[in-house]
Amino acid sequence: MRKFLIVAIFFPTISFTQSSDSVVIRQIYDEALSNSPVYENLRYLCKEIGHRLSGSVGAAAAVTYTKQLMESYDFDTVFLQPVMVPYWVRGKKEIVRIVDSKAGPMELAGIALGNSIGTGPDGIRAEVIEVGGMEEVAELGEKVKGKIVFYNGPMDPTIMQTFRAYGNAVRQRASGASEAAKYGAKAVIIRSITQSLDDTPHTGSMRYQVNVHRIPAFAISTKAANRLSDLLKQSQVEVYLESHCEMREDVLSYNVIGQINGSENPDEYIAVGGHLDSWDVGEGAHDDGSGCMQGIEAVRLFKALNISPKRTIRAVMWMNEENGLRGGREYARVAEETAEKHIAAIESDRGGLLPVGFTSTGPDEKVEKFRSWGPLFRPYGLYDFSNPGGGADIGPLSQQGTFLIGLLPDSQRYFRYHHTADDVFETVDRRELELGAASMAAMIYLIDKYGL
Ligand SMILES: [Zn+2]
Repeated sequence: MRKFLIVAIFFPTISFTQSSDSVVIRQIYDEALSNSPVYENLRYLCKEIGHRLSGSVGAAAAVTYTKQLMESYDFDTVFLQPVMVPYWVRGKKEIVRIVDSKAGPMELAGIALGNSIGTGPDGIRAEVIEVGGMEEVAELGEKVKGKIVFYNGPMDPTIMQTFRAYGNAVRQRASGASEAAKYGAKAVIIRSITQSLDDTPHTGSMRYQVNVHRIPAFAISTKAANRLSDLLKQSQVEVYLESHCEMREDVLSYNVIGQINGSENPDEYIAVGGHLDSWDVGEGAHDDGSGCMQGIEAVRLFKALNISPKRTIRAVMWMNEENGLRGGREYARVAEETAEKHIAAIESDRGGLLPVGFTSTGPDEKVEKFRSWGPLFRPYGLYDFSNPGGGADIGPLSQQGTFLIGLLPDSQRYFRYHHTADDVFETVDRRELELGAASMAAMIYLIDKYGL
């Protein structure tokens, strides 16, 4: 009895706060798991609109759709933020064909990398030279002249955090063409960046260095890469490449924004969302239709539960993450110009998979406060708050001191689908998608209530 009294007298505030927070968080998850339209919304985006590379008809349709969706939920303000985006077009299907080898001719599953120039209708035929990475190209020097450089550096399968393995491997895709062009290569072929061994090629963006001759860039599937590598060990191999892609004039597009205005500090913002553009293959279901729909859902959950935030809560669908990041940069520029103080931004851009935690980037004391909320998420399976990170689109907000947060789902399957024709609605699980949306809403609730 005496013991009980001491607890009751000395810890009433703490225990009341924690329990009231856990009650609200329980309500958020209950609503998301019982009544959420997030899965149906993703279905619509994927099946009725489909892929939506910046500047494309699909991207424009996705802008209209998400704006109408947020209006239908009666958000306080829904608007479009104009941004000029690059408009890259793939054109006719690519050809990657072994034309001369010990095993005879053979088609390889290939795809042009985003932002690449095309070979044109005459294609390119040349001998292939294999390298493990960019350093090897410099070592070979003149030996790559007139050849097709084949970057066969794999995504390290032993690294548990697959995004880290991706980060290591992505250099050859992003910069490999210009590096090879410096030594006179005619084109480059990149091993797809995935741990999966299959016949699906993965596209993704590449960029040309200024003042370096531009050469076409392709990716081939991991199985095709293994085949090509095996043949190269036996004999000289010649490959024929053909692509019809081109970069056109910039096009007007938009970030799509919907918000609930804050009741006490409307000039302080918490942004949540993902990027609305996707690659021009598949449906951009995991990358990043899921993040967009979860962002809208996180804000809808506040409305559905009549939680009135003190600060303005904003769902943002950034445009052009994949091949330019123009939307993320413009959003941060406007926020700076109009003095919209973003105390935190949460991005979901690691797929609509089972959430296991959050990443964060900010000053130590804020990270500590953020991590102290971890136990409130344990009942929902989120345990990992230990990693730095945020998201590409919210990155530019760090200039104004915004605390950056990334939803962290289980990452083991993500790179099976990433940037491929296989990134379709059917690969997303309803419950996992809902849990991600609820987790972000619960995190916004805590940030809004306690600040950072
Ligand atoms: Zn993405």
